[in-house]
Amino acid sequence: MHAQHHAPLSGFRAMIPLFCLLAGACTGSGGTSESRPGAADGSALGAGASGPEAAPDKVRKSEEEWRKELPPEVFHIVREKGTERAFTGKYWNHTGKGVYLCAACGQPLYASDAKFDSGCGWPSFTAPVAKEAIGQAVDRSLGMVRMEVVCSRCDAHLGHVFDDGPAPTGLRHCINSGALKFQESR
Ligand SMILES: [Zn+2]
Repeated sequence: MHAQHHAPLSGFRAMIPLFCLLAGACTGSGGTSESRPGAADGSALGAGASGPEAAPDKVRKSEEEWRKELPPEVFHIVREKGTERAFTGKYWNHTGKGVYLCAACGQPLYASDAKFDSGCGWPSFTAPVAKEAIGQAVDRSLGMVRMEVVCSRCDAHLGHVFDDGPAPTGLRHCINSGALKFQESR
């Protein structure tokens, strides 16, 4: 129901695959999937349990490169884990058929079919377009335990996932508009 900010999900368990993911990202061993040890986490979170081909074309850029490339408000969200104010982003009440891409690297993240009106003031989705499109991390900032959602390709911070969403997943991927770029389907 309204467990929103304190929903632990499977937080502790999810840390293990997360660290694998981070370690893989740091050492450049691109083959490690974030999900292999975490099939259980994956099903609980609506992500993970992907194949071995997670993020074959990982995007890595220095913070300086990102800063040059991205508008300041986008940089703040995706690289500094910023959060836009509720009801201020361009997509919280946006409708239209298409797919929402990562604002930093262009990877498809969420389909409009998975978008729902959560009333929270941020674009909300029940699931990503593909399990391997996103990565997750435990976020203990601001005195809360939340599950952070990132782009699996460039590690852009997107938002958080909560377990108070509607069927079929019961999840609410609460994503900053500034981390997304809508591409209309024709
Ligand atoms: Zn990205």
